[in-house]
Amino acid sequence: MEFGWREEEVRFRNEVRAFVSEEVPEEWTCLTPGEDPYSDTTMGFCHKLAQRGWMVPHWPKEYGGNAASAWDFAILSEELWMAGEPRGSQYMNVNWIGPAIIAAGTEEQKQLHLNRIASGDVLWCQGFSEETAGSDLAAMKTSALRDGDQYIINGHKVWTSYAGKAEYCFLLTRTEGSDTTKAGVTIFLVRMDTPGIKVEVIPSMLDVHKVHRLTFDNVRVDASCRLGDEGEGWTVVRDALSDERVGTPRYARAEKMLEQVVEVADRKGIFTDPGIRRQAVLALAACSSARLLTYKVRQARARGEGAGPEAYLGRCAIVRSERAVSDLALEVLGEEGLVSNSLSDGEFRTAMIAGLGGGSYEMQLNLIARLWLRMPK
Ligand SMILES: Cc1cc2nc3c(=O)[nH]c(=O)nc-3n(C[C@H](O)[C@H](O)[C@H](O)COP(=O)(O)OP(=O)(O)OC[C@H]3O[C@@H](n4cnc5c(N)ncnc54)[C@H](O)[C@@H]3O)c2cc1C
Repeated sequence: MEFGWREEEVRFRNEVRAFVSEEVPEEWTCLTPGEDPYSDTTMGFCHKLAQRGWMVPHWPKEYGGNAASAWDFAILSEELWMAGEPRGSQYMNVNWIGPAIIAAGTEEQKQLHLNRIASGDVLWCQGFSEETAGSDLAAMKTSALRDGDQYIINGHKVWTSYAGKAEYCFLLTRTEGSDTTKAGVTIFLVRMDTPGIKVEVIPSMLDVHKVHRLTFDNVRVDASCRLGDEGEGWTVVRDALSDERVGTPRYARAEKMLEQVVEVADRKGIFTDPGIRRQAVLALAACSSARLLTYKVRQARARGEGAGPEAYLGRCAIVRSERAVSDLALEVLGEEGLVSNSLSDGEFRTAMIAGLGGGSYEMQLNLIARLWLRMPK
């Protein structure tokens, strides 16, 4: 099969690229995509995107979309991620929080949330990880106890990005009587200003990307905030995680950074070094394979198929592409690369995050071994 873009898709990409070059400063590419201190800027950018119908072009019209193809959204995502993700945290809304609500939400939830996401008006955070439930997400313990028309939530979440500014949390809990398996996971769409929620920053080496600890102390939410049935959240989460894994076209940004690193190597006169050239070619191959594996998953999702093991392959290829470019950037830039927001600093931090956020690289390898290669546990 030969992969190629249709004429109208090439035209759309050019249009998006022109818009981005007008609206997004060039230095954004060197930031860690999705950084949160810029939320005023990113909010403004999302509004402009929404005015053009480009926040969720592929969603149904009744929820603020234009019923465009999933490939238009893929093109848009690539161009935005390449530019340092000027949607800020809102990339999560459109990549998987919105789709999860489309898939499992009540009509009331769809009316409440989807048009606001489509208008670029709302910030979300994702409350999945806990201190003893990161890679092993199903081991989480945050509890939701039914009390009439409400639930009472108690527990802690960690590493929550964007929680300091988010209006809503996509929260995973365990309802009463469920054991620590995948069954029994219940999702809530919780306002972050609900009494009993405490947000604290966890100091980390990630610099401007802040991660938080959330405490839920007898937090009361209406049963109407529950997404899907009680104890039936795992399927929604599994699909959402699959969209999260390949939803960020990190390979596209890595490829752009690679071009810039090669330019620097050339300027420094070291691109004649066979070792550097070999590293550059391997990094380019890693970016290309990540791109094609991601397209495969996107195509399956566009056909309405559930999450398959290809998503793990795609994610691992993405992580490898970012790591390959990051290694080369450090090699080429040397000491210059240690400066904050330099070409290699941004790439190093992005590559590091890719290997953990959305599930660690090693866990994806385990899943490939089990689901793809059918190896014993
Ligand atoms: C920048 C950043 C932002 C994040 N944002 C969010 C967020 O918004 N919301 C959220 O819920 N979470 C978030 N996370 C958390 C992220 O999802 C977890 O870090 C991830 O799931 C790994 O969990 P952990 O940190 O507990 O590591 P652990 O699960 O303790 O893993 C530590 C190491 O051990 C390895 N390991 C663990 N178990 C196995 C095994 N069985 N086999 C082989 N190796 C294994 C892992 O691969 C990893 O290298 C974020 C993380 C980062 C880095």
